Amino acid sequence: MLYKNLIGGEWVGAESGQTFKSISPADTSDIVGEFPASDERDVNRAVEAADRAFKEWGRVPAPRRGEILFKVAREFERQKEDLAKLMTREMGKILNETRGSVQEGIDMTYYMAGEGRRLRGYTTPSELPDKAQYAIRRPIGRIAMITPWNFPFAVPTWKIMPALVGGNTLVWKPATDSPRLAYELIKIMDEQGVPAGVINLVFGSGGKVGVPLAKHPKIDMITFTGSTAVGREIYRYGAEKLNKVHLEMGGKNPIVVLEDANLDLAVEGIIWSAFGTTGQRCTATSRLIIEDGVYEELLERLVGRANKLKLGNGLDEGVDVGPVVNEAQLNKIHQYVGIGLEEGAKLMCGGERVTEGKLAKGYFYRPTIFADVTPGMRIAQEEIFGPVLSVLKAKDYDDAIRIANGVDYGLSSSIYTQDVNKAQRAIVELEAGITYINSGTIGAEVHLPFGGVKGTGNGGREAGEAAIDEYTEWKAVYIDYSGRLQKAQGIE
Ligand code: NAP
Repeated sequence: MLYKNLIGGEWVGAESGQTFKSISPADTSDIVGEFPASDERDVNRAVEAADRAFKEWGRVPAPRRGEILFKVAREFERQKEDLAKLMTREMGKILNETRGSVQEGIDMTYYMAGEGRRLRGYTTPSELPDKAQYAIRRPIGRIAMITPWNFPFAVPTWKIMPALVGGNTLVWKPATDSPRLAYELIKIMDEQGVPAGVINLVFGSGGKVGVPLAKHPKIDMITFTGSTAVGREIYRYGAEKLNKVHLEMGGKNPIVVLEDANLDLAVEGIIWSAFGTTGQRCTATSRLIIEDGVYEELLERLVGRANKLKLGNGLDEGVDVGPVVNEAQLNKIHQYVGIGLEEGAKLMCGGERVTEGKLAKGYFYRPTIFADVTPGMRIAQEEIFGPVLSVLKAKDYDDAIRIANGVDYGLSSSIYTQDVNKAQRAIVELEAGITYINSGTIGAEVHLPFGGVKGTGNGGREAGEAAIDEYTEWKAVYIDYSGRLQKAQGIE
């Protein structure tokens, strides 16, 4: 089936008349849909539509905006299972996880719907008599939104919902690998009463749609989730226009396991965080740093578990790990395995594509563990974004934290220990936007801030109250009811 862009409330094809296909990574003969291959002309129309809609939407009282989001959330809930199955089909992660991903989007939508009746500002006393003053939140304007394929439902809701409750309008370019989920999400929003032009959807490539969208002079803010390389480029486009630019980017997330840790618990958390979503989460564990005394034992147990993970189509019962998203990603992962071997790391399991049986029709890669990795190796430094875990040995707690912090990224982090003092120190000392104690690096909830430091972000945060700060601007209001000219700062 051929799907369309949504521009100004109308479902329309691309000006170019061209299309591209979304293909299931578990079975490349399964076409999930055909979508418009848009370009700058479609982007321009969508931004104009967002501009027109902003004049009205920005003036709709926030509680009314929130009421629409409540309706949207209820419909998401009603369609949860279908959305989850479609997500598994389109981008590969197993059904159990896609159900969670949809639930995350539902949670975010309810959370932000409730913000319609809060959207808190504050009052504060004036230094002068007979003068009132307070701070209110105002919408930013027209927002460009560019998202990745690995969370094709949750990540967009993290951006759309706070943006809409805050009174902004949006133009969204979803990833080329997950257009169908974007279509379903926006179709529901459109049907549940989000007014025409408030959210506009333009399918197409990063170069042909993402670039002109980020560069568009009528865009006031850019919100982007994806790789650090693309985020850096987008930051430059935003800087030219003095736009606010929200960037959520890559990770190289560590789990530290100390000698006193509960190893049963650690094994579960590591397997889930490293190989869940086939390692394709921004928060996936890609480095495991083990204190010397438990290195051999933990490694052996992990390899045993990884070898037992069942690969397959995520729609099938009992499957633990789905495919990677596309052929380019598969090749990139395999290249990194080659790099690891050249660098002298020890391949403990995996390291190859699955080429037998029906899995040969998809992009399946065996869960891979490298041991004896040293901190300077590329497989310990660069984001691979696949089912590859690099295991490093640490002399003690301080060495482990030094290794954990010795990368350019800083999204998620974790430590397994029974020592409350070391756990508390790690909370302070790990350079990351998120730290877990005695659980893996994944599993964020929607009401706490989400984002990273160093090469992962530029200071912004998604989710929770922090998202309201991202998607609104402060205005200070002064009301002088003294009936005379009063001057602040003691000026006579
Ligand atoms: P990506 O290649 O950076 O793509 C992200 C989005 O940007 C896609 O929609 C892509 O379009 C678009 N794009 C590509 N080149 C562009 C350009 N020059 N200008 C404007 N837009 C452009 O990342 P990905 O492979 O989809 O996703 C994986 C990355 O996302 C990983 O690095 C992961 O860590 C990160 N991620 C971060 C978070 C977080 O919250 N920190 C969450 C999820 C994922 P096309 O699809 O058409 O190429």
